[in-house]
Amino acid sequence: MKLNTHALRYLTSEDWRVLAGVEQGSKNHEVVPTPLIQQLAGLRGGSGVHKCISNLAKVGLIAKVKNARYDGYRLAYGGLDYLALNAHRRSNTVFSLGNQIGVGKESDIYITAAPDSTLQVLKIHRLGRISFRSVKSNRDYLRNRSTGSWLYLSRLAAHKEFEVMKVLKREGFAVPQPISWNRHTIVMEFIDAFPLRMIESIPEPGKLYAELMDTIVQLAARGLIHGDFNEFNILIKELPQPDGSIELSAVLIDFPQAVSTNHANAEMYFDRDVACVKRYFERRFKYVSDEPGPFFADAVKDIGAGRRLDVEVEASGFSKKMARDLERYVEVADNRDGAEGDEKGEDGAEEDNNEQVDEEDDEGEEADDAETDALAGEGQGDEGVGSDRLN
Ligand code: ADP
Ligand code: MG
Repeated sequence: MKLNTHALRYLTSEDWRVLAGVEQGSKNHEVVPTPLIQQLAGLRGGSGVHKCISNLAKVGLIAKVKNARYDGYRLAYGGLDYLALNAHRRSNTVFSLGNQIGVGKESDIYITAAPDSTLQVLKIHRLGRISFRSVKSNRDYLRNRSTGSWLYLSRLAAHKEFEVMKVLKREGFAVPQPISWNRHTIVMEFIDAFPLRMIESIPEPGKLYAELMDTIVQLAARGLIHGDFNEFNILIKELPQPDGSIELSAVLIDFPQAVSTNHANAEMYFDRDVACVKRYFERRFKYVSDEPGPFFADAVKDIGAGRRLDVEVEASGFSKKMARDLERYVEVADNRDGAEGDEKGEDGAEEDNNEQVDEEDDEGEEADDAETDALAGEGQGDEGVGSDRLN
């Protein structure tokens, strides 16, 4: 789904209040009844609210839904995007929005600039856009969505990822500096590097291999397993040395699925991360290590000696219940990956709904032509990346 910031500048303060009202109402209502929106927005005079509602619906931030019992509106991803961007803008975290640099299965990645022009990355979590049609229990799970909604889950993913990155950065792990999170988005340091996947050849693969395995072990020794340790989630920095050679160093990203070493399937997740690196080095660089392992039991044998990071993440406000809700989703999505292959962008979750959506629904649309829409508007092009000022 594309993020078009064009309307961002034209929303009135009333529009913003109504949008925030729809968001607030969505906590308890999948479809927020119009009178409730009016009440939550706290605006006097009905006609003003209706005008705002129609403005917001026109630009796709909310969508009208008719169902059997009442008519109302639901927040669209675009509406949530705007609320988050506005918060980042108001806290002076993000000054302008630039190119989209990644479309993950469940996230969109944009370059942004801070007020001092430092480049950053905005990661927008989009859980729930993949298809769950294959497995009936998954459908039922998503339909019963009080705690399964994309809104709630995307926010959980962002919150968790931010907390995990914060403790990892503090402990000296090579991860981007997390800067802030709001709703389903996080802003972090931009790493000027390519994913391992893009690296054709490496002079000394054994060195990088050892560094990556050591990272997996060090994480587990502090209570965490990445859970998706693949060639797209490892960014490789090339550091020129005084003697003319180039040192490679890895920066790890993408943490919403990280699990505690206390998880019932922790060993399986650990082994899967290890196997992922092994397989990739063998296939791509024809490198096979002489050393067996690393093994889960060895990695966690001294656990508890230092501060446990999994416990800290839990204590950060990301509760056990939140962790369970998100985990449930990740497991469902994992199974789906196995069963159906890659079907990113299908909007199955929304289709399974028997409500009728009036306004054009752009959720689940693929952003193949990234780098275009977000740039529409004036004030672009003078910051190294094309960018759209938010002010
Ligand atoms: P997803 O959950 O969709 O896989 P990721 O966090 O892995 O999201 O990001 C997707 C892609 O975006 C990465 O493979 C990488 O190319 C790019 N990316 C993400 N974060 C950064 C960052 N901080 N700096 C540079 N590139 C990034
Ligand atoms: Mg990734």
